[in-house]
Amino acid sequence: MHDVIIIGAGPAGYTAGIYCSRARHDTLLISGILPGGQLMNTTDVENYPGFSDGIMGPDLMTVMRKQTEKMGTKIIDDEVTSVDFKNRPLKVKTASEEFEARAVIVCTGANPRKIGLEGEQTFAGKGVSYCATCDGAFFRDQELIVVGGGDSAMEEAIFLTKFASVVHIVHRKEEFRASKIMQERALSNEKIKVHFNSTVKEIHGDQKFQQVVLNNTKTNEDKILGAGGLFIAIGHEPNSAIFQDQIELDGNGYIIIKNNTETSVTGVFCAGDVHDHRYRQAVTAAGFGCMAAIDVDKYLSKSNT
Ligand code: NAP
Repeated sequence: MHDVIIIGAGPAGYTAGIYCSRARHDTLLISGILPGGQLMNTTDVENYPGFSDGIMGPDLMTVMRKQTEKMGTKIIDDEVTSVDFKNRPLKVKTASEEFEARAVIVCTGANPRKIGLEGEQTFAGKGVSYCATCDGAFFRDQELIVVGGGDSAMEEAIFLTKFASVVHIVHRKEEFRASKIMQERALSNEKIKVHFNSTVKEIHGDQKFQQVVLNNTKTNEDKILGAGGLFIAIGHEPNSAIFQDQIELDGNGYIIIKNNTETSVTGVFCAGDVHDHRYRQAVTAAGFGCMAAIDVDKYLSKSNT
């Protein structure tokens, strides 16, 4: 029986671990299948305080993990398959083990959103990718397509210009949603071409991805755009499926919180992108992890569970 189980190993989970362990609670962190979370797919992080020259996403997560373990959190690299929050003690299960705790902090984050087209699945890993950092280097001197109009799409497109001959950004609206600075960086890059008012209607290939059919939403005309790779950067979905009948979720699957980090279940707290669809930053996730751990500390000192 642990005092606290933390589910998830992004900035929220690691920070919660640091604070829970420093408060002398017996803390177990179950990391999930991609320890480190979304920052493992990021290159330069320039906006996490404390690193004046920036830091690579995976490097940041490696030092966070080391710090968490040093403080005394036990980390297991396994995936949580189900939870039972309806009874006490709270139960967290992996495929092979069941763990019990007095309190739980859910920090499971979010995953890349899919367009939902047949070819997307067929050619995933064969030219269709959700991570420029992971796959960009495979596409040297080729034309590439990035779908999306947010900061992620800009970041992916800029990164891909290191390898590609041309990067096409395909966006469904007439304006990007991305921050001004990211837009400026993308638009001033001469390797980047933009297709506004365009949606990806079909994704085709043979053994590998070869081309998309773009639909112009203003003229309803279709056109074919060929490329070596298709990078989809259209936002994220919260990783909350295992909590569906256990914790109250909103219509988009985000965990609903009250009083800062409490969920609808007493003793179950939440931090990071699995509830936060507004800020979604590493530093805010870390901040929420700290808040959840402080709330857990107060809860445990009052509670007899
Ligand atoms: P986002 O801001 O939610 O943007 C998603 C983009 O994808 C939007 O342009 C959206 O179009 C488009 N989209 C959504 N569903 C689509 C679909 N089915 N088909 C086609 N297009 C679709 O997501 P994000 O870019 O991943 O960014 C998430 C958060 O992380 C933001 O707060 C962002 O600022 C932050 N972030 C920051 C940095 C950085 O500062 N370096 C880097 C990456 C992310 P509409 O505009 O039409 O809705």
